Amino acid sequence: MKRADVKVWFACNNKCLFCVQWDKRFHHKQRTFEEIKKILEDEYISWCRGLVFTWWEPTIHKDLTESIKYAKKLWYSQIQIQSNWRTFANLEYVKELISAWVTEFWPSIHWFKSETHDTLVWAPWAWAEVVEWIKNLKKLNQIIIINSVITKKNYTEIPQLSLLLAKLWVSQFQFAFVHILWSADKNKDEIVPQKSLAMPYIKKGLDIWKKYWIICMTEAIPFCLMQWYEWAIAEYNYMPETTVVDAEYRTESYAEYRWNEWKSKREECKKCSKFKICEWPWKEYIEIYWWEEFRIIND
Ligand code: SF4
Repeated sequence: MKRADVKVWFACNNKCLFCVQWDKRFHHKQRTFEEIKKILEDEYISWCRGLVFTWWEPTIHKDLTESIKYAKKLWYSQIQIQSNWRTFANLEYVKELISAWVTEFWPSIHWFKSETHDTLVWAPWAWAEVVEWIKNLKKLNQIIIINSVITKKNYTEIPQLSLLLAKLWVSQFQFAFVHILWSADKNKDEIVPQKSLAMPYIKKGLDIWKKYWIICMTEAIPFCLMQWYEWAIAEYNYMPETTVVDAEYRTESYAEYRWNEWKSKREECKKCSKFKICEWPWKEYIEIYWWEEFRIIND
């Protein structure tokens, strides 16, 4: 199902060290309800039937609930909220969103130790609020899809976090390798790990999810580092076609945009058996660590 990723608001109540949209908060206003309604109508006409309300932080937009109700009226069948979830410790607000027609909740949690999470998002008590929220949503029997950004500060905690969330029985989990833009770029020395160092921890995390029969996936890690775990590559196995409505532009196909604009490519990869289906690493990653760890697959 094609879906629209709609940015409703360009401010946030966190200041994540790895934020890929950081400076937009200084340049763009929040969208008005009328503007959001128009976007929802246009995207429905362009055949989107799923909808994602996303960052910056959509839950601090005063018209989010009304926007969800409007999307329901237009017959969007799946409505997801992507959020840092700090607002969601408030159970009444969660119930309001559910009755407005949110079908999936996508929180970000950036690690097992509360100190690591709170340092990464630059907000004290943020981890405790997210965990509280997950428990609230479980009580309300909702679909919970967790996203965690892999950074240099947190990758060794992946197995512990996986176990914690598996025991909370979240519905799905994603490890997304940090995209080196804006804040992540400014903080790259302390934020960006070498993928090959993080892989043993990521694979251990995937093993835990598999054992608990929970859907799990990785983003922005090519096939050559994911051997025997290809089933978890999000871009290849799970990501639906998505239109992105950002502050300054609309992208009809996020997949094409990623392939053509954001991913690095090298001649040698043409010899690899995964060449036609691989998405390659982020361009900015190769500028830091080069290609040494990416080995041609021959089978
Ligand atoms: S095409 Fe390149 S980056 Fe992709 S799996 Fe093969 S060697 Fe790795």
